[in-house]
Amino acid sequence: MVSLLPTPHPKERRLIFANISKPGYAPDIENYLAHGGYEALKKALGMKPAEIIDAVKASNLRGRGGAAFPTGVKWGFIRHDDGKPHYIVVNGDESEPGTFKDRYILHQDPHQLIEGLAISAFATNVHLAYIYIRCEFPKAAKIVWEAIKEAKARGYLGKNILGSGFDLDIFVHQGAGAYICGEETSLIESLEGKRPYPRIKPPYFPAVLGLYMKPTIVNNVETLCHVKHIISMGPEEFAKMGSPGDGGTRTMCVSGDVRRPGFYEIPCGGVTLGELIHDVCGGMKPGRQLKAVIPGGSSAKVLRAGEVFKMKTKGPDGQMAEKDVPLLDLVMDASSLMAAGSMIGSAGVMVMDDSRDMVWALNNLNQFYAHESCGQCTPCREGSLWMSKVTTRILDEGARPDDAKNLKGIADNIAGRTVCAFGEACSWPTQSFLAKFPDEFEKRVK
Ligand code: SF4
Repeated sequence: MVSLLPTPHPKERRLIFANISKPGYAPDIENYLAHGGYEALKKALGMKPAEIIDAVKASNLRGRGGAAFPTGVKWGFIRHDDGKPHYIVVNGDESEPGTFKDRYILHQDPHQLIEGLAISAFATNVHLAYIYIRCEFPKAAKIVWEAIKEAKARGYLGKNILGSGFDLDIFVHQGAGAYICGEETSLIESLEGKRPYPRIKPPYFPAVLGLYMKPTIVNNVETLCHVKHIISMGPEEFAKMGSPGDGGTRTMCVSGDVRRPGFYEIPCGGVTLGELIHDVCGGMKPGRQLKAVIPGGSSAKVLRAGEVFKMKTKGPDGQMAEKDVPLLDLVMDASSLMAAGSMIGSAGVMVMDDSRDMVWALNNLNQFYAHESCGQCTPCREGSLWMSKVTTRILDEGARPDDAKNLKGIADNIAGRTVCAFGEACSWPTQSFLAKFPDEFEKRVK
């Protein structure tokens, strides 16, 4: 398994990985309590639920699972006086290629998640929560179950938590192994014991019609861990660590052709892409040049080395002005990457050097998406398989003259025409690889 640097890089600030990086730290409750564990829960139980939601809003915490939706706003959709049971479901289905941070938290510091989840449940009037863990993480499920038992035995879960009158039970549910279960409504279907077909939104927004058709919050593992730190340090300090509108730190998984791939926890917007690659990760592999980067998990659009983006930035006079921003100067936060036409997503940063064949890389992604389409809607089911067949054909030197054009046509007819965002996720790689590396496709076709 890839691991953390023994001492944080100067660009890092470790909140989520604070305990994990301490030598000899074990994932049991004794260790957790010895390092200040459950103090934030004690503090939160002395607050009003609405104060906690306001704090999370003020912290500018955005979801770390992929969509980067503001967490406090999501929680605000739950009505406290509706007389219905509410649920929180933790999305531990981490399956986006290039992303490998949540499993590390589940394995190494499960109590951090349980504490963040308990605070979040108190804030949203939830008494029953589920941690959904993908089936490929059996060890993580075992560790989290053990941690739940420990927390219950110490009074941090169960009835009348720490004498506050608040009750919470948590169950671990193991998925059966499907990428689509990372999509929140599909995850809910799976949790209900059904085939994980994503639900149509509207009307099935989980905050209104979620688990068992009751209001449900679905949050990612890392997102809920941050809640503990917001309560501990205060929302202002948490917000200040990040960039405007994107507070706190973000764990980044860097893979591919850099000298030091691995996990890094960096304040949101605290590095540019160039600093991440050349400073934090030690640069490209010897003798190699950067060719492309996928900055937010495999669904994010690819960016090409040497690209320059037109961006609106605030000048010294406070006025907004358009500026040219080269790829390596892109700030690694949600708004900059969106402005560059890609996304921070799950912060799974995949770096490719000049030895990489982009047709091969796209075919690899297309095969993944063709395999993982749930099959519910025709454009995605047929289109993802068709794209995969075309890129395989191009690779096998059986390309037809109009294959690049066909590929684009297929991708353009999937995105925006499907039940869930998988349609976009499987189209964006094809659309962006074709747009950024047309030369490589043309060469193969010729
Ligand atoms: Fe299933 Fe794809 Fe349709 Fe989503 S877009 S519901 S994954 S077939």
